[in-house]
Amino acid sequence: MGKMDLIVTVLLISFLLMRTDIQASILQEDNIYHQIVNTDNILLADYVPPNLVKPNVLFYNQGNLEQNYIEQEAAIALEKMFNSAKQEGITLVAVSGYRSYARQLMLYNNAISNHGIDYKGVAIPGASEHQIGLTMDIVGVSGHLLQQSFDTTPEWEWLAQNAHLFGYIMRYPADKEHVTGIIYEPWHFRYVGEELATYCYTNNLALEEVKDFEAKDFYFNELFQKLVTSLNIVNYNSSPFYNIDIEYTSIKFTNSGLQSYVFRV
Ligand SMILES: [Zn+2]
Repeated sequence: MGKMDLIVTVLLISFLLMRTDIQASILQEDNIYHQIVNTDNILLADYVPPNLVKPNVLFYNQGNLEQNYIEQEAAIALEKMFNSAKQEGITLVAVSGYRSYARQLMLYNNAISNHGIDYKGVAIPGASEHQIGLTMDIVGVSGHLLQQSFDTTPEWEWLAQNAHLFGYIMRYPADKEHVTGIIYEPWHFRYVGEELATYCYTNNLALEEVKDFEAKDFYFNELFQKLVTSLNIVNYNSSPFYNIDIEYTSIKFTNSGLQSYVFRV
């Protein structure tokens, strides 16, 4: 066994042993803003978010409607996001925020009576993320209300590039239907806070994927740092690396297929 093989073997074994101790830090399970709501994580019928407020933004349906409310911290971030867009000539319109269990039940019963019991186009009551009060469906003055073609508008383009800076993520992306269980909804934005939103945006993750990804990210970053130290490599880029090919005299790190770094000894 060569020196390189030995180093790699020791590191791989030690990191495999360490994996059980990895604590997720970006997605915090006790943080309400990080809570995942889906058909596997249903909210109780009596769950009402604290601090529901009506943000000072342009609404699609004016008035003191339930759907025009949202949780306070999410509301402040929403106002900042809408104002920032406005300064760049982009006019956003808030369509639907908080949705109570009672309203979900009514919508569900209506849909089932119209389309039959097997209809999948409506969420089971308690499974709608709108009940948590951290979600806003958004449209722009260019139209395409609650349609996938909303993603052809300048308003959507602005949101796609900037929402994370205000703590919002596009919760149901086009390429994540198999993960979220929800069809592509380019209009549906969820507040998770700036740090987690930026992490999702940067790494192209749906909320359901963060925990696993974070463990993997941590694992490979640590492994990479140890290797850099062990091999006395001074010139490197510290981006996360997700695949490692080990050959007899070299180690190749590949970052999501975009960049490769090969170290030879
Ligand atoms: Zn929605």
